[in-house]
Amino acid sequence: MAGYDYDLFVIGGGSGGVRAARVAAALGKKVAIAEEYRFGGTCVIRGCVPKKLFVYASQFPEHFEDAAGYGWTVPDARFDWKTLIANKDREIARLEAIYKKNVHGAGGETFQSRATLVDRHTIRLESEDRTVTADQILVATGGRPAAHPALPGHEHCITSNEAFHLAELPKTIVIEGGGYIAVEFANIFHGLGVETTLVYRGSEILGRFDMDLRRTLHETMEKKGIRILCHSVLEWVRRRPEGGLDALVSGGEILTADQVMLAIGRTPNTEGLGLDAAGVDLDKIGAVVVDDYSRTNVDNIWAVGDVTNRVQLTPVAIHEAMCFVETAFKDNPTKPDHDTIPTAVFSQPEIGTVGLSEDEASKRFAELEVYRALFRPMRHTLSGRDEKMLMKLVVDGASRKVIGAHVLGPDAGEMAQLLGIPIKAGLTKDDFDRTMAVHPTASEELVTMYKPSYQVKDGARID
Ligand code: NDP
Repeated sequence: MAGYDYDLFVIGGGSGGVRAARVAAALGKKVAIAEEYRFGGTCVIRGCVPKKLFVYASQFPEHFEDAAGYGWTVPDARFDWKTLIANKDREIARLEAIYKKNVHGAGGETFQSRATLVDRHTIRLESEDRTVTADQILVATGGRPAAHPALPGHEHCITSNEAFHLAELPKTIVIEGGGYIAVEFANIFHGLGVETTLVYRGSEILGRFDMDLRRTLHETMEKKGIRILCHSVLEWVRRRPEGGLDALVSGGEILTADQVMLAIGRTPNTEGLGLDAAGVDLDKIGAVVVDDYSRTNVDNIWAVGDVTNRVQLTPVAIHEAMCFVETAFKDNPTKPDHDTIPTAVFSQPEIGTVGLSEDEASKRFAELEVYRALFRPMRHTLSGRDEKMLMKLVVDGASRKVIGAHVLGPDAGEMAQLLGIPIKAGLTKDDFDRTMAVHPTASEELVTMYKPSYQVKDGARID
């Protein structure tokens, strides 16, 4: 460590930063981590975790409706937003404390302070008005919801950050965006009884996912009562004198809503961090540029997670942090593996997916076999809910490897996690076929689709 205060100083106490600090400290390194807001970062404080709690909350009305078919009479249900927020906040505070405790437990030090770089080895702790030095520095400052300065009236809009703390549940909301956050929150608000309109600039929500899933989810959301306007953007947002907002949608319609939420991507948190003083290169959107090992152009400064804008997912940041510790402290250079990442969208119904969409696969492989099943899940037989489940396997005709698996329906996220293993391992459709089904489950469909629904040859579908 040659005269430095710390072997490792981590800036940013989110999933990636805390993991790196904790694991490096457990190796016996002298480690400190600074966080300016709350330990836990986006995922725990205002992302994945509270979002999933909101998803659960928003699903109850459908559960109550579905119960009737199973013989239950559910008295008139009432929902209290403030109770949900208070209980969610209590759970988040519990998790935040665990994050900090884990760093301390491993022997690391935590600072509740903004930290900025003075030079490549010196960090300024703003709240303590002093500097410390470190041999290695990890930047793990994450990202924030992208602002939309080009939208007149953007200052009246909320983002996912504010959605977790609204004093009142709105009666109506307009959400701009067609990605994970816009789609998940559209379903959450709708489930909680909010009249919801989604405004998306593209032709179909959830770009990058398999088109079958995108279309089927879109239809299902509309059937539930969510209004989806594709090929549309907001032109302006204005506050009404009597309260609420007007939002002009391209095409001329003015939507009136209690809240307008922007969910148009996320921006890396690199401003004012002193990265220029340390000589660290940023890309054109302000993300930290790193090599395959998460090292910046300054060889003792590293970066992991959303601040590098590689794949903006919590498990990816954690994986990058683990690889960083292997590389920097265990003399075992390890590249994070960003290939074949399973992912879920907690829409209603849920999406779980891993590997290539049919469209992507057809560009890379000459011959595909596509296995597809669209069916009513068993739980909706008695409930009478008119909602379909979709399962799809995309298989490379030459090698027989399953290169994409796509599920829309209850528990699809759980299935994506398990499907991630055979697809990562490069298993073939024959391996799926000789796997015994678990009956009665929805996922048994994944191992009982014996005949291709259709083939794709040189990009053209053959039925
Ligand atoms: P996404 O990248 O998923 O989606 C951004 C959306 O905003 C896209 O539909 C995009 O359109 C649209 N958009 C971008 N710029 C504009 C603009 N100027 N005007 C109008 N629309 C615009 O970002 P999110 O904000 O939804 O989420 C950020 C990231 O967080 C995700 O990429 C994901 O990695 C992560 N996340 C993961 C979750 C999970 O794992 N379940 C949940 C929530 C977030 P277009 O498609 O045309 O580019």
